[in-house]
Amino acid sequence: MGCDLFSLATPGVAGLQPYYPGKPTDELERELGLRDIIKLASNENPLGPGSRAKNIVSTVANLSRYPDGNGYALKQVLAAYHGVDTDQLTLGNGSSDVLELVARTFVTSQHQVVFSKYAFAIYTLVTQAIGAEAIVVPALDWGHDLHAMLVAVTEKTRLMFVANPNNPTGTWSDSKSLRTLLESIPEQMIIVVDEAYYDYVTNPDYASCMDWLDTFPNLVVTRTFSKAYGLAGLRIGYAVSHPDVADMMNRVRQPFNVNSIALRAAAAALDDREHIEKSIKVNCDGMQQMEQAFDSMGLHYIPSQGNFICVDLQQPGMEVYNRLLHHGIIVRPVANYDMPNHLRITVGLEDENARLISVFAKVLSE
Ligand SMILES: *Cc1c(COP(=O)(O)O)cnc(C)c1O
Repeated sequence: MGCDLFSLATPGVAGLQPYYPGKPTDELERELGLRDIIKLASNENPLGPGSRAKNIVSTVANLSRYPDGNGYALKQVLAAYHGVDTDQLTLGNGSSDVLELVARTFVTSQHQVVFSKYAFAIYTLVTQAIGAEAIVVPALDWGHDLHAMLVAVTEKTRLMFVANPNNPTGTWSDSKSLRTLLESIPEQMIIVVDEAYYDYVTNPDYASCMDWLDTFPNLVVTRTFSKAYGLAGLRIGYAVSHPDVADMMNRVRQPFNVNSIALRAAAAALDDREHIEKSIKVNCDGMQQMEQAFDSMGLHYIPSQGNFICVDLQQPGMEVYNRLLHHGIIVRPVANYDMPNHLRITVGLEDENARLISVFAKVLSE
């Protein structure tokens, strides 16, 4: 009796803050008895998956059998799509799984991990769980200061995370600065460029790092099916890297970390270019709709290359968040990112955005 189980956890784990996901729609329904709730909180594709991926889900046979632990078929299509070899791929239960794999494969409690302030929460989580030292580099205009990140590297640095674009800020790094960073960091460390929002980027100065894998053997690029591909609920993402890096990560991962339905649906989704194009168009239009509305309300926001936008309310975001909940709209507070006056809003369908905008205006004038 009275045994303090928390004290048994490793120091890194004991210091972890729980991850608060966006509030599920069902929960808000239960709590407030509301109907017609819209959720613009977790950067999901408002169109959902395309019909090709959706049709697969009901037809996957052999659910009593373990999935193909090597993801043979999906790796074939991914390799062709990216023009890489299948041995450069590591599949994960969401790309978060892959981000954790990188850290667990290369980092010990004796090492440092470098990432930016306001960067994706998973980087902090995996670093701390390992008990490694996080070097959090101050941001520049809410985005990554790549030069400062380079300067922060020491002999103890084993890993750097760059989110491009970043969540929750929507900020991004131009290809020239990123190339300079890759050329300047020591070869004896791994750099992960997390391209979860790659498909949504419209800025011409942006480039994927995928084409540079041959030049930089210590580069790992991650992508996900959770955002533009609309498969967040199935949990599937991947890394592309040097084959030796992939080899090590594939030894560390759980043998069946990706389920059979996700494997099949991801392949179908990758092939469904029509749905991707449509999703990108819906996001472009929706982003414009939001930006114009916020401009006309005189609200500041961080320009975003993702499918979400962070609005600066110049007052505590939590209160506005709660008022929006009472109108059946779920957005995302980002106080846990040390951004107490911002709210992150996912771009939805045109009518969802319109409802958010009108309720937002009302709630802010209350
Ligand atoms: C959503 C997101 C991911 C991917 O998450 P999954 O685990 O693949 O669902 C990765 N990086 C960033 C920056 C994200 O916002």
